[in-house]
Amino acid sequence: MIVMKIVGRLLPLFLWIAWLPAKQQENYRDYEQTDRACVQELYRLNHINQTVDFVLQKKKEYASLAKSQLGMWEVLEKLNKLVDDSDPDLDLPQLVHALQTAEAIRKDGHPRWLILTGLIHDCGKMLFYFDEPQWAVVGDTFPVGCAFSDKIVHANLFANNPDLNNPTYQTLTGIYTPHCGLNKVHMSWGHDEYLYYVVKDYLPEQAAYIIRYHSFYAFHKENEYAHLLSEHDREMLKWVKLFNKYDLYSKSPEQPVVTALKPYYQKLIAEFFPKKIAW
Ligand code: FE
Ligand code: FE
Repeated sequence: MIVMKIVGRLLPLFLWIAWLPAKQQENYRDYEQTDRACVQELYRLNHINQTVDFVLQKKKEYASLAKSQLGMWEVLEKLNKLVDDSDPDLDLPQLVHALQTAEAIRKDGHPRWLILTGLIHDCGKMLFYFDEPQWAVVGDTFPVGCAFSDKIVHANLFANNPDLNNPTYQTLTGIYTPHCGLNKVHMSWGHDEYLYYVVKDYLPEQAAYIIRYHSFYAFHKENEYAHLLSEHDREMLKWVKLFNKYDLYSKSPEQPVVTALKPYYQKLIAEFFPKKIAW
């Protein structure tokens, strides 16, 4: 009797929760409204410290992949302890984000390489475990060595970047030639470029391209930097755009059951990667 009474009282509440609308697409990546204070601080440090010199130094340090030998699932499990300070939408561990992205791609019937890309796209955040600060691991990426677009998130925070004092870096094309292609452009250092080095010999070209530029929102969302793009970049853009909707809109507080999904994803990883790869 008492149980029935409690259920009766709570029923309207359950119905109300069930009818709550899902998060609307325009409410993602709202940097003005986010209640995560760490986001602005991360971009303050990122926009001061990402310079041509810094990027070249990090590329040199990591391009040889001499840090570690690890399996892809092993990396995903390590990342489960990491929460991304740059993300205004999600404060859940990275393995949750990896599985939510991959599952959304799988549900829409996309090829296996794209499901795998969804699963591993943020594994470059391993940089965090090589003692890199969050501002050198996560957040949107952008070219260095040429003028910063004002469409980059928190663009006002570039005011204290030392590259502003080098006039060569501050023209539209900077140190590059028009339409040289993004592979000739130095991007701010972070998990995208690093993971590209790790996986490029194992995955189809589109997958490697998605991984390398998935945080370059000024390119794939704002259509900036058109003067640096090659024909090849314009062809590849559709893949990055397709991927982005899964990366962004699959984020939700609903947690996937890791143990249930693990066998499927371990098999998928084994189709493309050896047991251990160089990091
Ligand atoms: Fe990412
Ligand atoms: Fe992501």
